[in-house]
Amino acid sequence: MAKKVTARCMMCGATDSKAAPIVEVFDGLTLCTDCIAYIDRARDEALKKLPKEQAPEKHDQADIPTPHEIKAYLDQYVIGQEEAKKYLSVAVYNHYKRIAQEAAKDKNAPKATLKKAIAAQDADEVEIEKSNIIMVGPTGTGKTLLAKSIARLLDVPFAVVDATVLTEAGYVGEDIESLLTRLLQNCDYDVERAEKGIVFIDEIDKIARKSDNPSITRDVSGEGVQQGLLKLLEGSTVLVPPNGGRKHPEQKLIAVDTKNILFICGGAFDGIERKIASRLNTHSVGYGKDEAMKKQQRGNLMRYVLPQDLKSFGLIPEIIGRLPVLTALNPLDRDALLKILTEPKNALVRQYKKLFKIDGVDLEFTQDALEAIVDKAIEYKLGARGLRSIVETVMVDAMYDVPSMKVKTFTVDADYVNEKLSQANFDKVKLAD
Ligand code: ADP
Repeated sequence: MAKKVTARCMMCGATDSKAAPIVEVFDGLTLCTDCIAYIDRARDEALKKLPKEQAPEKHDQADIPTPHEIKAYLDQYVIGQEEAKKYLSVAVYNHYKRIAQEAAKDKNAPKATLKKAIAAQDADEVEIEKSNIIMVGPTGTGKTLLAKSIARLLDVPFAVVDATVLTEAGYVGEDIESLLTRLLQNCDYDVERAEKGIVFIDEIDKIARKSDNPSITRDVSGEGVQQGLLKLLEGSTVLVPPNGGRKHPEQKLIAVDTKNILFICGGAFDGIERKIASRLNTHSVGYGKDEAMKKQQRGNLMRYVLPQDLKSFGLIPEIIGRLPVLTALNPLDRDALLKILTEPKNALVRQYKKLFKIDGVDLEFTQDALEAIVDKAIEYKLGARGLRSIVETVMVDAMYDVPSMKVKTFTVDADYVNEKLSQANFDKVKLAD
């Protein structure tokens, strides 16, 4: 990622400012972010005017950010999860390198005889395989956020889908191919773009075989669904219902090749730590220990997750084979939750400050206010996902009143947080959920 320096913009001469920071693009070339955006726009416009065959292929090798750049980008949005970020950065980099290579091969392919084609294949027979990813970790620890951030960085269509809605053909539920409907919808049915997109399949653990997994309470026909999913993961042309749901005979279906779609799967895999523990030959976790200790042990064991643990959990080996990149996410501790409130680029506190700034009000959260918010999230076991509902409950009165008050600053401290939460009966609302 480009390094920030104190210098002038070599294009417009502006000095560094908050609104348009100066960035060293490469080799001492410094530009302000406004000019960079301008150049980007100019480039896009120029490309549109080029005849099609002269326009560079999207995802040219040079366009792909390096693993370090991908990780640095993820760092701006996702707190912690260092290992997952590293694995993802490498996998995504390789995936797009593979696409770029294929595109180059297609372009350079001489209109050749079969003999020539076979000779060319022999000369370059190393084929880079697709690197779909599986992330294992408790809910609300950033799996979806990681996948979403990568899609944003690469500017490719992205869809989050839930494995639990799937069923085998013939049962109530949605057909496997409907996983791609959302992706198509998200890029206005531009099939070519969708074919280079990213699909995040959430709750993949819920389609595990029930018999191998005592902690699952619901089986959405396990193995059959996994077999169906396999077809998508390994890359084939599938017929997608444009509006999702089940296919029916009158419906026009859209053919989508999944060869270059990157699938990122996520799941909590509750109970997998026991499988890991028994493989590692350590004591089974959690018995007679307090909650904090259990959580700590779970986090520690998850780091050692291997493909065979997914198999003991009930995923079929073929699926595991198609998800070669396996990484674990850690449970978020108090420190991480505090950081999540303030540090990410679109952190909740930053969003609220911006909302108030538009009304000319400087909003401040004291440190003890932030700690009180985090403590509530921990107390009610809401994790990172609960931070938003807590902050929203705390801030609703202020957002209602402040625009009509003649104030220039507004400070939220721990007393204010606790008062607003008890006024809103937050504990009762949450416990009733
Ligand atoms: P998961 O997919 O693991 O269940 P999500 O990625 O959907 O969890 O996380 C829910 C929300 O919690 C996110 O939108 C984000 O606001 C916050 N969050 C979770 N983990 C992190 C993290 N590591 N860093 C920053 N924010 C996070």
